[in-house]
Amino acid sequence: MKAGVIAVQGDVAEHAAAVRNAAAAHDESAEVVEIRESGIVPDCDVLLMPGGESTTISRLIQQEGIAAEIRDHVAAGKPILATCAGLIVCSTDAKDDRVEPLGLVDVSVDRNAFGRQKDSFEAKIPVTDLEDPFHAVFIRAPAIDDVGPDVETLATVDGRPVAVRDGPVVATAFHPELTDDPRIHDLAFFPEREVLA
Ligand code: GLN
Repeated sequence: MKAGVIAVQGDVAEHAAAVRNAAAAHDESAEVVEIRESGIVPDCDVLLMPGGESTTISRLIQQEGIAAEIRDHVAAGKPILATCAGLIVCSTDAKDDRVEPLGLVDVSVDRNAFGRQKDSFEAKIPVTDLEDPFHAVFIRAPAIDDVGPDVETLATVDGRPVAVRDGPVVATAFHPELTDDPRIHDLAFFPEREVLA
């Protein structure tokens, strides 16, 4: 499996490790490539859009011509996992002119909703299809405040969605790559396989 991490900005190495771990759990190996320019996304089977700063990521992927390739990837039904700032960039409405949302997950987001109250928090949360709760790390996390009709909510905190699936896209407000638990990467990239215990 060739996994591309959008690496214009954000926590890239952690995602690379998590996707390798998820693949290893299925006796597969993942070749991870870092994407900073156009021309690489079309060769990738799966993509990861990391956390970081959504305004910066949005600007750079537009500038480098990567944004259109990401849209084509999803239009072809290939998976992408978007986390935190990645969720904001992949949303349909980021309510901020500095972010040009890719419209890949039919949600609207409030960029620093959780961040304003508290910069960072952690919670053990139940996630659809996972047997045990997931230790979720939230860092200046966005809130998802509106979810389209075809979006499946996979997890909530205080009644608010924090993990969603929209077709081939899984997006989280938290950072699954910051723990060594690969189950969210597994959900995103091996949905048809037996879920990891
Ligand atoms: N709230 C940040 C943003 O707007 C995202 C924070 C993160 O990715 N940890 O980009």
